[in-house]
This record gives sequence, C-alpha cells and structure tokens, in this order.
Amino acid sequence: MGGKTITAFRSAYPLLTRYHDDHPLTGRTVERVESRGKWLLMHFSGGAALATHMLMSGSWHIYRPGERWQKRPADARIVIENREFVAVGFNVPVAEMHSAQTLARDRRIPSPKGDLLSEDFDAEAAYERMVAQADEELGDVLLHQRVMAGVGNEFKSEICFVTGLNPFRKMRTLTEAQVRETIAAARKQLRANVLEDSGDTIVTWRGAGRRTTNRSDPRESVWVYGRQGQPCRKCGTTIESRLQGFDARVTFWCPECQAMPDGSDVDG
Ligand SMILES: [Zn+2]
Repeated sequence: MGGKTITAFRSAYPLLTRYHDDHPLTGRTVERVESRGKWLLMHFSGGAALATHMLMSGSWHIYRPGERWQKRPADARIVIENREFVAVGFNVPVAEMHSAQTLARDRRIPSPKGDLLSEDFDAEAAYERMVAQADEELGDVLLHQRVMAGVGNEFKSEICFVTGLNPFRKMRTLTEAQVRETIAAARKQLRANVLEDSGDTIVTWRGAGRRTTNRSDPRESVWVYGRQGQPCRKCGTTIESRLQGFDARVTFWCPECQAMPDGSDVDG
C-alpha cells in the first residue's frame, strides 16, 4: 500500500465514512504503514493516520483487484483500494482516524521508540522503564505494552526460557545484564517471527507457525509455551504452568533451567 494513491475507500464504521466524506481519502497517498505493538497504523498524505487494532478477531488481507476474498464480504469493515491492490480489514474491532497530534497524545498506542519491531526502538529507554517496575514480576512486565510493545503471552514464556530467568522473579532481583539480555532476547524473538518485505515494513506474521527454537520440525517450534507436563527440551525436567498477574495470563517455565535464585521461591 505504501507510496500508492488511494482509488477507493469504504467502511462499515460511520466515523470513518464521515471523515472520508469531509476529507476524502481518495486521491491521497499512503505514505507508509507501520506496526506499533499490536496496532497497525496507515499514514495518509495530508496528515491523517488510520489506526486499527485487531484484538482477537480482526485481520487485514491484501488482494489483487478481482481476486476472491478468503473471508465473507459481510465481515469486511474497511476496504482501501489502489490500482494494484485491495486492502480489506475483516472484523477489525478498533478503527480510528488520527491526526499527528491525537496520535502523539494517545496513551494506548505505543511510540515507535517503545516498539520492539521498530527501527527506532530505544533499548536504553526500555531498560529504564523495565527497572522502574521494581516490584512487578518479569512475566507481567514483558506483557506491559507501555514498557515495551510487541510481546504477547506466547513470547513472554519463550523469552524467559531463552534467558534462563524465572518469569515470577521480581524485577528488582534481576541484574542490569539480565534485564538488558531480556530486552535483546525479546527483540530477537519477535524479529525472527515476522516476514519482512524488501523495505523495512513488516508485512506478515507467521501466526500459527511461530518458531522460537530455531528447529525446523513444527512440533519442536517452541521451548515451553503450551508444553506443561512435557519434558524440557534442554534438561528433561517437567515443564510447569501457572496463571500469572492481574489478568491471570498463563505462564510456562522449566523449574530447572529457570530456577529461582537461592533464598527465594516462586511465591516469594
Ligand atoms: Zn529445563
């Protein structure tokens, strides 16, 4: 979509169609498309940006004109066309038009500096935000999108395994090196799981085929996520799982490879 002129815009959302009626998107250029955490931003010439969030149900598809859609047309919420492509947002539950000012003010949409997948990611600032959560548990802090944007529940457990850190450790028990290693591991895991086009724009999540182990067999694609009761791929110890945090998201870990440091336990 980037660099191309919009030839048609349609939406099931009245606020978007009203914006389009007042400030037509047709004839404008899509300057760039970026992900920020779990938001997708499409920037238009003239200063507007369409921000969408997929939650659990939404997805964007790209088709050639005339190509058969893989989902029902009735589920299309936003359609943006140029001469070569049709972008269709199916069941996109959150869609908002922003100006540069409202985008900068919006506390839900992470800045590119906080996005692990952005070229502008600022690891130093992310480090400061992580250590500021001294009494929070590592697994919870990894999901905190205002600290670092991009880590979902699956990657949370995988990142902790890769760094050998117990996800229930309080941030204040971690050394500076451990926090920095966690940030680097998060960035590496996320970047390894997107396909990028020739530019720096992320185009496709691997979705169900996510890999964190670097093994080619899909059955060996993750270290601990979803593997409670099964042997650890490194040491053979039984993988455990437990709900963690205010939102009670399930966390998986190896009690041997990710042991709590001496003098503390998972509940301490
Ligand atoms: Zn292990």
